[in-house]
Amino acid sequence: MSDYIYPVARLIESFRRLPGVGSKSAARMAFGVLEMSEADAEEFRAAIKGVKEDVHRCSVCCDLCDGDKCAICSDPERDGGMICVVEDPRAVSALERSHEYNGTYHVLGGVISPMNGITPDKLNVKELIARLNGDVREVIIATNPNIEGETTAVYLSKLIRPLGVKVTRLAYGVPVGADLEFADSETLARALEGRREF
Ligand code: ZN
Repeated sequence: MSDYIYPVARLIESFRRLPGVGSKSAARMAFGVLEMSEADAEEFRAAIKGVKEDVHRCSVCCDLCDGDKCAICSDPERDGGMICVVEDPRAVSALERSHEYNGTYHVLGGVISPMNGITPDKLNVKELIARLNGDVREVIIATNPNIEGETTAVYLSKLIRPLGVKVTRLAYGVPVGADLEFADSETLARALEGRREF
């Protein structure tokens, strides 16, 4: 980075902190910003400020939103009797793209991973349990099909079943270890259709 004057090196370093961006891409992006018009640069500044200041967690499902409640939780056409539990907001987008699901979601914010210090109290588990107030018929657990995803699914099923709520797990046609967000719409539709009860 010492090859560049400080303001440029600083911007390259900021881009390099983004996932999947190496030094060369970061330098290309930084020079891209240098060449931007003042109006585009202002829009870029405002967009970064906007995601940091205006994005909150939905007070119901913990998904990202820019108001108190997300669009799905606010939609009276959605079936509030079904909650599909996912790891992160990207999984919500993937399932929405399949157009097969009309219930609501709950975003855990990760999976149980003792090795990484992620215990259930670090996830949005109590927010999920608080939603099981009698109107919820089924909780579909759609954590990713890997060891941590399975551990989390088993943990949640043990917590939820005694409350008299049906708990199901997606029937993955995707290879074990593949992330839900990368599954195609048809695979996700089949996974939802073939979900099995715990
Ligand atoms: Zn919501």
